[in-house]
Amino acid sequence: MDIKAIVAKQPRLHLTPLPTPLEFAPNLTALLGGPRIYVKRDDLTALAFGGNKTRKLEFLLPQAAAEGADTVITLGGLQSNWVRQTVAAARKLGMEAVVVLEGEPPKGDLQGNLLLDHLMGAELRYEPNVPQDVEDLEIQGVFPITGKIAEEYRSKGRHPVLMPLGGATPVGNLGYINAVDELGDQLKELGVKADYVIAATGTGGTQAGIECGLRLSGMDTKMLGISVSYHTRPKEEEVAELCNATMDFLGCGERFTADQISVNYDYIGAGYGAVTDTALEAVSMAARTEGLILCHTYAGKAFAGMVDLIRKGVLTKEDTVVFFHTGGGVANFAHPELFR
Ligand SMILES: *Cc1c(COP(=O)(O)O)cnc(C)c1O
Repeated sequence: MDIKAIVAKQPRLHLTPLPTPLEFAPNLTALLGGPRIYVKRDDLTALAFGGNKTRKLEFLLPQAAAEGADTVITLGGLQSNWVRQTVAAARKLGMEAVVVLEGEPPKGDLQGNLLLDHLMGAELRYEPNVPQDVEDLEIQGVFPITGKIAEEYRSKGRHPVLMPLGGATPVGNLGYINAVDELGDQLKELGVKADYVIAATGTGGTQAGIECGLRLSGMDTKMLGISVSYHTRPKEEEVAELCNATMDFLGCGERFTADQISVNYDYIGAGYGAVTDTALEAVSMAARTEGLILCHTYAGKAFAGMVDLIRKGVLTKEDTVVFFHTGGGVANFAHPELFR
């Protein structure tokens, strides 16, 4: 199917120069002695230090603007890349931003993503009592805190719009359908066939977008999602549901089932944001071989998964792998103690 025509029909804002580069990683490929590794540089999108959420916001913000939004409300962890990019996009469109941050206000100076949220003038609301399964509640649209803030703003005569956690909605997922279209063009130009695409899976929106993009483009490439958090529901089911909702939104008949979705839970450690030796090794390896800056929460865990699958021989010399660098490097400035 013609993805370009499908995407072109959707309201979209251009928030970043695209395509992002697709780079061969020769030093990493040589060091690991396995598949040829390419890196899709989605860390180089242009909203306040970039990352994967920018692509979703290109489709989500026109929807918010069409609803008459003058204020966006969203939530995330203290070092949320989603929150940072959403605040930047809102500012670019002349909107206010209110963010619910899961946790206590930090004792010392603000760092990393949080510092940038503050710098961009977002209203920061700390919320220490966020339920463990907030991601699932948020995806189901039943998380109450942001809804209350929206009411508060409405009563002040504002027009708030809720931006769901991570932008994992059918509209947001269009960002990664578009990314796969881009990737397909870049691979074709290089004369390369990718056997696998690897990326960190948080809410699952990025994976859902990539799965839909691969299906629509007919590329013979398998998506391996490396989960960065545990969930009450199997992520495969949630991703398949997100894919189906996206296809419905686009009026496409394609169907996905959980068994067609690959999510790996082996590299999470104790949970979301938990430090693991393999993620720290990955952050250091990517930086030293290719000058790529990952974080221990997202891309570092996905990269650790890729390295382990190569070492175990699951990914072999015969394969070509595209690692999606989803960004997040600014979080390192909040955790200098990890890299002494
Ligand atoms: C949000 C995020 C992800 C995960 O994307 P989802 O669409 O939520 O699965 C991966 N990497 C980074 C750096 C992120 O900020």
